[in-house]
Amino acid sequence: MVAERIDGKAYAQTVRERVAGQVAFLKSKYDITPGLAVVLVGEDPASQVYVRNKNKVTVEAGMKSEEIRLEKDATQAEVLAVVDRLNNDPTIHGILVQLPLPPQVDEMAVINAIDPAKDVDGFHVINSGRQAVGLDAMVPCTPLGCITLLKERIGDLSGLNAVVVGRSNIVGKPMASLLLAENCTVTIAHSKTKDLPGLCRTADILVAAVGRPEMIRGDWVKDGATVIDVGINRIETEGGKSRLVGDVCYPEAEQKAGAITPVPGGVGPMTIAFLLVNTVTACCRSNNIEIPEIE
Ligand code: NDP
Repeated sequence: MVAERIDGKAYAQTVRERVAGQVAFLKSKYDITPGLAVVLVGEDPASQVYVRNKNKVTVEAGMKSEEIRLEKDATQAEVLAVVDRLNNDPTIHGILVQLPLPPQVDEMAVINAIDPAKDVDGFHVINSGRQAVGLDAMVPCTPLGCITLLKERIGDLSGLNAVVVGRSNIVGKPMASLLLAENCTVTIAHSKTKDLPGLCRTADILVAAVGRPEMIRGDWVKDGATVIDVGINRIETEGGKSRLVGDVCYPEAEQKAGAITPVPGGVGPMTIAFLLVNTVTACCRSNNIEIPEIE
């Protein structure tokens, strides 16, 4: 049996529509417009595409969108000055600094300069810590999108074996923490893990966040497992063209898995949708109002 394709793009569209409904409600009832600021330093082509996309969906949802671009040789002080201005701007509820930053800028220092209440990426140490101990926190958008897809597809995740391949602060670790909070038995794998194929074969839920094109092969996947492929890798094809693939070899894995996210069209659109969700959450919390429930 071929695996069910988990359509993240379609699900993300429903999330974005719900957010648009919440934004309309906040405007009409409280005269508040959620605002998101995205800071881009330099000219990395992939980052430019992401930022353009984020700006577009923010505006489509009816929110205020501010894009701040700094030259690639911007100093750390200049980046911090922008963050400080946004921290103090009452019309901005969410601040996202597009990573990676150029080498002269200390990423951790910039992330931790963002007001944790406006940290819609959820990378600030306060938010990482709060999430780790189970307090209300801004949760990073990609893991939040992944856990939502998993709960949507499986329902109760309690007792399932989950393997997360990758231990980055922005995907692997928060993903593992969310799975643990859902009572999964979680293993985090990384580049020093022994017998990775064997470990992956134990997974009812397999999350790949590695950044290596099609590294996870079909025979690493347990029969019927749910596979979430976070990886976004551009590979060269014939004729000087390129295409996007995940960290999982989709054609092989779909022969074993019960369900699997495609790349593109899986986790990527969910990440952007949950950026909007986090911005509405930040806006409501800062104004001390309930998050509107929109079907
Ligand atoms: P990082 O480079 O920060 O982390 C990669 C992780 O993979 C590390 O923990 C590393 O281990 C591990 N790893 C590398 N090689 C191997 C290997 N051979 N075997 C086992 N583990 C390995 O990447 P990110 O977490 O930032 O991103 C991962 C992928 O997800 C990328 O393709 C990225 O583009 C994509 N991504 C997609 C998003 C989306 O919206 N869909 C959002 C964010 C990222 P170690 O720690 O030991 O070095």
